[in-house]
Amino acid sequence: MTTLVWFRRDCRLHDHEGVHWAAARGPVAFGYVHAHSTHPWRMGAAQQSWLHDTLATLQDEIESRGGQLLLEAGNPVATILKWVQELGATAVVVSLDLHPESKAWDHELSAQLTPLGVELKVFDTARLTDSCRQYKADGTPFRVFTPFWKHLQTLDIPTPLGVPSWQPAIRLAGGALCDLYLKPAIPWDEGFNWVAGRKGAFQQLERFCPVASKYGQQRNTPSRTSTSGVSPYMALGVVSPREVWHSVSLGDAGVFLSQVGWREFAYHTFEHTPSSSDEPLQSAFNRFPWVSDRDSFALWSNGMTGYPIVDAGMRELWATGWMHNRVRMIVASFLVKHLLIPWQDGAAWFWDTLIDADLPNNSLGWQWVAGCGVDAAPYFRIFNPILQGKKFDPHGQYVKQWIPELAHVSTDVIHEPGHRGYAPPMVDLGYARQRALDALAQIR
Ligand SMILES: Cc1cc2nc3c(=O)[nH]c(=O)nc-3n(C[C@H](O)[C@H](O)[C@H](O)COP(=O)(O)OP(=O)(O)OC[C@H]3O[C@@H](n4cnc5c(N)ncnc54)[C@H](O)[C@@H]3O)c2cc1C
Repeated sequence: MTTLVWFRRDCRLHDHEGVHWAAARGPVAFGYVHAHSTHPWRMGAAQQSWLHDTLATLQDEIESRGGQLLLEAGNPVATILKWVQELGATAVVVSLDLHPESKAWDHELSAQLTPLGVELKVFDTARLTDSCRQYKADGTPFRVFTPFWKHLQTLDIPTPLGVPSWQPAIRLAGGALCDLYLKPAIPWDEGFNWVAGRKGAFQQLERFCPVASKYGQQRNTPSRTSTSGVSPYMALGVVSPREVWHSVSLGDAGVFLSQVGWREFAYHTFEHTPSSSDEPLQSAFNRFPWVSDRDSFALWSNGMTGYPIVDAGMRELWATGWMHNRVRMIVASFLVKHLLIPWQDGAAWFWDTLIDADLPNNSLGWQWVAGCGVDAAPYFRIFNPILQGKKFDPHGQYVKQWIPELAHVSTDVIHEPGHRGYAPPMVDLGYARQRALDALAQIR
């Protein structure tokens, strides 16, 4: 009985219950379909490039084990139905994906497979545990992180599974990876110096594990090496959260594990409120007087605000497809509070430029900064980018790395705006702060 495993954001063979289930049934085929989509949250350009590299490693691994990764671009439901017929498959395996498009495809595919007598089997491979089915004592979802985290720690986090041996299904004539056109025509992604696949993921974990106990003190330093750097791999499911958890949990890594807990909380929140990618969780923010200002947005997204820590972050994002969490908070705060630009616009820019773009995490992050989410930072807490820069990049190394115009500026003033040869400050911080507080007062 042949099974087709349809990969989406679960690009791995390890710790994949669906692959185990398929291998136990009989011959296994694997496939990835790149959707021609117009959905507002279709995969962004940076992550598509990263997906190309990721699929290349997955394809190598499957072929080295005697299998085939079928690849096609088009309508996922139609392609899966075609492959099911060509393979004579009697089951299709997918991993639960909270993305609205994936949910719609699963619904449609299930309806089309059932009359054919083909089963659609869904596995939850993206989370530590079945945290979405965990509720507070009153039966409602968690809305605050700390009780969620306390509860999570009482649950068993299963040990990761290995790769089962499987019998390959018959080979089909398949498309080539380059036919998916995941790489941009103009190679603006050439600075994405990440090692793809499991090799890259475990390089990050091996670097990070010996220093995981220092994460609590070091994590706010905005360099890639102060944190684990596993998010690009987790976003496409190259490693599972359980693998990360069990790799790191051997030592004194409580603070780090709680961040993995934030990811779980983001998934819990998103499953219960899928509209949170677009709508504020605190409905009062629907009345917030946001400003639509494309020129200001362009200065922010191009790293030309005139505030060094903000511009360094935005330029790092463009160049590498990644940004440190502390800097994500600073740049997001600047956009929504100093510029009053809607958090949804910032979330969309991150979505297009991050290789670790993840809808639950991105939605939670932006709503947290904007002050309109669950357990969010209060809106009136407005990060001052000069003070944040001085505190978290005291020697200006991060700023100098990403803003060559400031390479020769002395450290004691580097976080101030107004240096010759560098963008002038686009807004006065005192004025912008008061404007944000006045705007907040309007919705209270
Ligand atoms: C505005 C904003 C947008 C964000 N968008 C995304 C996104 O699209 N994708 C994404 O993966 N993360 C997002 N984050 C969360 C966080 O910034 C990244 O997960 C983190 O910087 C990734 O680097 P790392 O793997 O080195 O993290 P580490 O600090 O080493 O943490 C390990 C893992 O824990 C999880 N994690 C850490 N911090 C958070 C957090 N605050 N919320 C949820 N999960 C967390 C991630 O899976 C991360 O890989 C966003 C944060 C903000 C403030």
